Amino acid sequence: MATEAATDIEVSDVETKDHRVSSGDKRVSDLNYPHGEKVPTSTEVIEVAKGVLWARIPLPWSLDHINVYLFDEGDGWSVIDTGARGKTGIEAWQEIEEEVLAGKPIKRVIATHMHPDHLGLAGWLVERFKAEFWITQTEYLLAQTLWHSAAAEFPESELDYLFRGGVDRKYEPMIRAAGYGNYKRGVYTLPPTYTRMEDGNLIELGGRTWRVVIGRGHSPEHACLACLDEPLFIGGDQILPEITSNVSVYAREPKGNPLAHWLSSLDRMRAVEGDPLVLPSHGRVFFGLQKRIDALINGHLEKLKKLHAWCEQPKSAVKTFKALYRRKIEGMDFYLALGEAIAHLHLLESLNLLERHFDGEVYTFASVGEVEMASIVDDVNKLPGIELRSLSDFA
Ligand SMILES: [Zn+2]
Repeated sequence: MATEAATDIEVSDVETKDHRVSSGDKRVSDLNYPHGEKVPTSTEVIEVAKGVLWARIPLPWSLDHINVYLFDEGDGWSVIDTGARGKTGIEAWQEIEEEVLAGKPIKRVIATHMHPDHLGLAGWLVERFKAEFWITQTEYLLAQTLWHSAAAEFPESELDYLFRGGVDRKYEPMIRAAGYGNYKRGVYTLPPTYTRMEDGNLIELGGRTWRVVIGRGHSPEHACLACLDEPLFIGGDQILPEITSNVSVYAREPKGNPLAHWLSSLDRMRAVEGDPLVLPSHGRVFFGLQKRIDALINGHLEKLKKLHAWCEQPKSAVKTFKALYRRKIEGMDFYLALGEAIAHLHLLESLNLLERHFDGEVYTFASVGEVEMASIVDDVNKLPGIELRSLSDFA
């Protein structure tokens, strides 16, 4: 159901759920896929670097897979991400255990972030192998919060968020009936302890040293890993090759500015050196990190520009869908689309390019000033609390 629980389906881009190239993203074909069209399964894995195996765990959703990566640690394995709770994922891991692990245990489970497709089976793997669990603090605590906040009653704060966004009140019975808090359905009991990864930390993984590089906006403290010994970069959902990750304002933080965090943290990743092989959570491994960062940022800048023009007459969030999405928004996509529309509105508002009005029921936004696309990222970086420490500071 709505809002934060919507993260349990990792439909990354409301516009391109079917994996078509998104608007503002014409350069996808510039990316270089070293394995061509070939993708792994849970048993036919692909070695992408020495001792680094790319496997896939099926997902029972429209985005039908997640990539997981296994790192040979000599006497065992480290794994990045797990798939969602449920029979499909467990069977895939049983196959991996039989055919890939060569009798060695999984010693460490690393989750890039808290979405169910990434850590849904972390607890199960940790229990089965007595493995360690590594994740950032915010992701761990948010996962615990969502897991424990399933409620019989649909919270009024969630309804307020929807109505203030322009959702028609006639849908209230339907929304209430759908229930609240299904994060837990996608996530096995979380590991009771964790090891914290923090921005800039160095970690050892698969016989190499990696820098933790935090991304924000899609989830609050998403860990990417940049290898210092070899051109490899674990992108998680921060940098996907063919789809763009959902960036949403959630009812829990209705004044949030996640798109500012997203653009700023992506911009910071331009400082990752060289042309590493990017290991993303969905799609195929690829070369072209910098091009992809440009395309992801430009896609949002174009949407911001369109949105600003569209709001010449005041609009509610729901009334901006036409400007932002090319296809009809239906079903679950509605919540992702609403969250993402509000994220774009809040970013423009934070730069004083939109004015918000409240009539007691619905927020509307009206454009002011001119959008200078070339300066938006710099302006965002100047907002308080947005910019993270420069990557070059860690070197
Ligand atoms: Zn995600």
